[in-house]
Amino acid sequence: MIETAGREDVSTASLRDAARMDFLRSYAFTGVHLAAIGALFTGFSWVAAAVALATFWVRLFGVTGGYHRYFAHRSFKTSRFFQFVLAWLGASAGQNGPLWWVSHHRHHHRHADTEHDVHPPGLRGFWWAHAGWILSRRYAGYDRSIVKDLERYPELRFLERNHMLAPLSLGLVLFGLGWWLEVRYPGLGTTRWQLLGWGLFISTVVLYHITFLVNSAAHMTGRRRFETKDDSRNNWWVALLTLGEGWHNNHHRFPSSERQGFFWWEIDATHYVLRAFERLGLVWDLRGPPERVYTRASRA
Ligand SMILES: [Zn+2]
Ligand SMILES: [Zn+2]
Repeated sequence: MIETAGREDVSTASLRDAARMDFLRSYAFTGVHLAAIGALFTGFSWVAAAVALATFWVRLFGVTGGYHRYFAHRSFKTSRFFQFVLAWLGASAGQNGPLWWVSHHRHHHRHADTEHDVHPPGLRGFWWAHAGWILSRRYAGYDRSIVKDLERYPELRFLERNHMLAPLSLGLVLFGLGWWLEVRYPGLGTTRWQLLGWGLFISTVVLYHITFLVNSAAHMTGRRRFETKDDSRNNWWVALLTLGEGWHNNHHRFPSSERQGFFWWEIDATHYVLRAFERLGLVWDLRGPPERVYTRASRA
């Protein structure tokens, strides 16, 4: 558990960081939320709801299977082409480029729940861990020294510099698709603005807050199977919402394991999708937890 010593220093640091909010990023973040509220006024159709669900799940997988399990932890292997596909899908979630994301995540694993951690909820509170840190100018850059393995790919550096291309192009595709459906199949009751609003903005806001739960809720509530140095938890409802990322105590104990739900009842949808991709030959060498996990866990 987190000790209370040093709490005041860290709170003061939080306030100072909060005062240095990056206004452009904060406006963009707020703007996406306002656009999502605006999207509700474009009306509802089952097509728009289905498209929003699809863009939500596919991009969430880009974050969980791509940014997190592949790029941050290198827990499986893939081709250079599919690596870029994963990076693009991750970038389309609007959570910055792959190098920024991975750098901060690797830093989190090294310093989880200490005053050096970027998002420790025990020290800085739920909202800081959830979204505050992302808006802080202090974390706008990233430590290049811990992502050297990724920086050697020019296409990843390009995507890092131009990460907004991914969500913007998704918006364009959705707008075009909505326009086409509006003209060709008016009976469906959808429009270009509705598909853009639901497929991009509503989907992105839900995606933001569900992803962020891993940094906030999964370090606060749930069960601890392993006595890790951090405060990570196995949280079943976060796992269900995040395609398996809620088995966060398992993950902090064995971060290089692609599989994060260690037992069949620990639903880990990202793992199932990656297993299917393995059968298709898209990915290989998936790393699992060591065998001793099962004997130790059975005693816990
Ligand atoms: Zn964590
Ligand atoms: Zn991780």
